[in-house]
Amino acid sequence: MASERTFSILKPDATRRNLTGAVNAVIEEAGLRIVGQRRIRMTRAQAETFYEVHKERPFYGELVEFMTSGPVVVQVLEGENAVAKYREVMGATNPAQAAEGTIRKKFAESVGENTVHGSDSPENAKAEIAQFFQDSDIAA
Ligand code: ADP
Ligand code: MG
Repeated sequence: MASERTFSILKPDATRRNLTGAVNAVIEEAGLRIVGQRRIRMTRAQAETFYEVHKERPFYGELVEFMTSGPVVVQVLEGENAVAKYREVMGATNPAQAAEGTIRKKFAESVGENTVHGSDSPENAKAEIAQFFQDSDIAA
């Protein structure tokens, strides 16, 4: 499998608890390279667009609230099979179900405030990266 890129967010619960470095250490130890990284405050419009697929879910309002409640770190990660690899490194959405050693098992507080986002397909990774990064900022 060729080198691939995925999109990651360190969510507000991570920045609030000063966990940027600790989460990045897990990412890098897993062999994923952080090739783009920026700390931002997401606007409501950005969060709504980003999570549009979940618009009809009961937690959508709460999710948008949470994602705009504090700074986040948006990232582009690169490596072999990066999309699937990062999903593995993150662990299950609900930290109570996340495997030992995963970011969510180590750090997440709840199913909503679960520390990290990672793209779920190469197609979505491309679209999500394009929402937050200029091509020139993440040139190889
Ligand atoms: P993942 O982030 O693992 O891809 P989903 O795409 O299903 O998970 O959900 C997106 C985000 O919505 C989750 O990471 C989490 O922050 C939030 N979320 C998911 N399920 C719930 C839930 N049952 N209650 C509250 N928030 C949720
Ligand atoms: Mg998802």
